[in-house]
Amino acid sequence: MHPDVQKLLAVQNVDQKVASLRRDLDSVLAETARREKKIADLRKTYETRRGELLAAELEARRNEKAIQAADDEVKKLDTRLNTVKNNAEYQAILFQIEAVKKERGQLEEAGLQGMENLDKLRAGIDQASRLLAEEEKTFREFQKEAERLKSEREADIAKVRAGRQDLTKDLPKELLARYERLFQHRDSLAVCAVEGQICQGCYTNVPVNDVARLMGKSAVVVCGSCQRILYLAH
Ligand SMILES: [Zn+2]
Repeated sequence: MHPDVQKLLAVQNVDQKVASLRRDLDSVLAETARREKKIADLRKTYETRRGELLAAELEARRNEKAIQAADDEVKKLDTRLNTVKNNAEYQAILFQIEAVKKERGQLEEAGLQGMENLDKLRAGIDQASRLLAEEEKTFREFQKEAERLKSEREADIAKVRAGRQDLTKDLPKELLARYERLFQHRDSLAVCAVEGQICQGCYTNVPVNDVARLMGKSAVVVCGSCQRILYLAH
């Protein structure tokens, strides 16, 4: 094997390990983001429920006041009833009392419905708050684990990468750049074997001429089809 290709193969070995460790890291980050989104959604639900409860409580107080006002009104009308002398006015006040009582009945009905609604909203808020607390607790545990995994993987990456500099320092810059481009665009496989005259990167035939050059070990040979840097497997 051409000595530069041999070095590139070792570099590729390092880069593949790093890529695999990075994928681990990325999946930890993706999982973190997924969980954070879930918590944000649960918090939003909780806030919405809370807003609904506050509005309903306000409505219930408003309703109570309106009932109180109706009671006061009826009392006032009752008092007036005792002071009027003429029958038409008497009838008019009776009619008014009837109307206020009817309105009060509707308010009371609405109040009862409001109470039921409040119970439901309180139960909903309890559930939303419980779900949020549970998810936050799970997330804190996950985060500890994720942090540990992250620093482990980062240390692994640093360890694996440590020798890369030594491997690349004597390589021609252009060859290294070509390798790096290929590694990026050819599925982390820039240097690949030829087996039985077949490029193992793209499975096309390698011309006899190129096989002969590979055997000669004095030239860097690339696949005419996928451009990967080749070496002879046997
Ligand atoms: Zn190829």
